[in-house]
This record gives sequence, structure tokens and C-alpha cells, in this order.
Amino acid sequence: MKLKDLLTPPAMYRDKLNDSRKYRPSINNTSVDGNHFLISYNCGSYTVEFQFTGDTLKLDDDIKIYCSCPSFNFEFAHILNDDDALLYPESFKKAIDNTPTKKNRYNLVGGCKHCIACARLTYNKFDLLQRKLRR
Ligand SMILES: [Zn+2]
Repeated sequence: MKLKDLLTPPAMYRDKLNDSRKYRPSINNTSVDGNHFLISYNCGSYTVEFQFTGDTLKLDDDIKIYCSCPSFNFEFAHILNDDDALLYPESFKKAIDNTPTKKNRYNLVGGCKHCIACARLTYNKFDLLQRKLRR
């Protein structure tokens, strides 16, 4: 998955895109470990994390994502894990074992409204993040 997949979700997730605009997330922390760039955010009362993988931080890097909200667990953890885009899969064993037929019948890769809000922030602050994480 790429950042743009969160920024422009499929039409079925249009309500999540709209809901995401109510949030004003903030960047909590950034770190580099080898070719992994980790950014954590505060979004509402939840914690969101994005991990970019690449030699340098780029917009089209593959990303793995995490949010501490229930929707992320019930609707997205399973499908994200199938797409190798779930950060901390060990925390979502139950969601991964169960197919989310009821909660996410589309079974399309995406993220909760918090992840979408943080993707927008990341996109808007990308120059700043690149400078910060290149150290
Ligand atoms: Zn969430």
C-alpha cells in the first residue's frame, strides 16, 4: 500500500474520507531504523503510526499502518495484513484469523478515518518530514 491509497480511497470509503476531515491530527514522534521510517501521530483519542520503507523517505514508498481505534481492528486489520500493509500484526491475531465479512464486505485495502486524516497531514508536511528523517 502507498500513502496515496489512503488519500484517495475507493468510493465505498467516501464516508470515512468525509469523517476524516473532522480531525486535526498532530505528529507525535519520528524515528529511523535502517530503511524503515516510523512516524507516530495523535488523532482524536487514538494513536496512529505509519512506517515507510525505502532508502530515503519518498511519497511512493510502501507503507504499513496502525491505528488504536476499534474500526481499524474490526474493518481493516485483516485486509491490511493480507496486503502486507499491517504494522504490528501480532497485536491483531483475532482480527487476522476472522474474515471481516460483516464489518468490511468490500474487502478493499484502506484505513480508518484517523489513518486518512494522518495521511493528509503526512502529505502536507512531507518536505518537513523528509528533512527531519534524513538525519
Ligand atoms: Zn482509527
